[in-house]
Amino acid sequence: MKYIGAHVSASGGVENAPLNAHNIGATAFALFTKNQRQWFSPALTEKSIALFKARCEEYGYTAAQILPHDSYLINLGSLDAESLEKSRKSFIEEMHRCEQLGLDRLNFHPGSHLKKTSEEDCLKTIAESINIALSETKGVTAVLENTAGQGTNMGHRFEHLRTIIDLVDDKSRVGVCIDTQHAFAAGYDLLSEEGFASVWQQFDEIIGFSYLRGMHINDSKKELASRVDRHETLRNGLLGPTPFERIMSDSRFDNIPLILETPDESLWAEEIEWLKGMRN
Ligand SMILES: [Zn+2]
Ligand SMILES: [Zn+2]
Repeated sequence: MKYIGAHVSASGGVENAPLNAHNIGATAFALFTKNQRQWFSPALTEKSIALFKARCEEYGYTAAQILPHDSYLINLGSLDAESLEKSRKSFIEEMHRCEQLGLDRLNFHPGSHLKKTSEEDCLKTIAESINIALSETKGVTAVLENTAGQGTNMGHRFEHLRTIIDLVDDKSRVGVCIDTQHAFAAGYDLLSEEGFASVWQQFDEIIGFSYLRGMHINDSKKELASRVDRHETLRNGLLGPTPFERIMSDSRFDNIPLILETPDESLWAEEIEWLKGMRN
């Protein structure tokens, strides 16, 4: 099965996310479980949790179709003791919110070294942050997203993600989410036929498809290896239709949330419809 959706708004309460997803014909969705621009938010209310679960059931969304995303403020690879502490605390709080909502994965950007530490130490710090979070929570997988490698962001090479996974104690609760725009901007050629085959072969050899817990489906405003994170509406960017046709007809991308983070949300229903039309 292909689960296809978008990162929908949860404004007014998490319970609105499944409704917003249903309204655009999505069979998957992503959401922020709290205000993504704040470190900490008030706890979810019982009413909100119950309504979220009821609506997911009503519209047919299981945990395997939902990919929550954490706050952009969090840097689990920070060298600064105070910001690392705050990041870890906030991340654990987000994992708890997922537990409360019956969700089984939390997607996040690995972290940035901010030129204050080596890449190697940054990756070690990220893995340690994950180990701490996993030891304080239950049933939620930490899902590392590949990045475009903009600025000092780590995670733009498959090897970075592998190094982190190697250092995580509980391998059953760590996974990855591959963003097509980030991969392309990081230098992974998803455009040519040979490139596409080779990228996913490298992915399988270095990380392994068993770790793939979600995808972000975005076209790119920026060229291959530009290291710039700029999403574009499907078919309007430099990737065009072909890489997405390949993904939709490839069973290696079955049974995980495939999430649009494209800039024009008024086009999401149409983009989802187009993707659905190419399913294997
Ligand atoms: Zn993404
Ligand atoms: Zn991005």
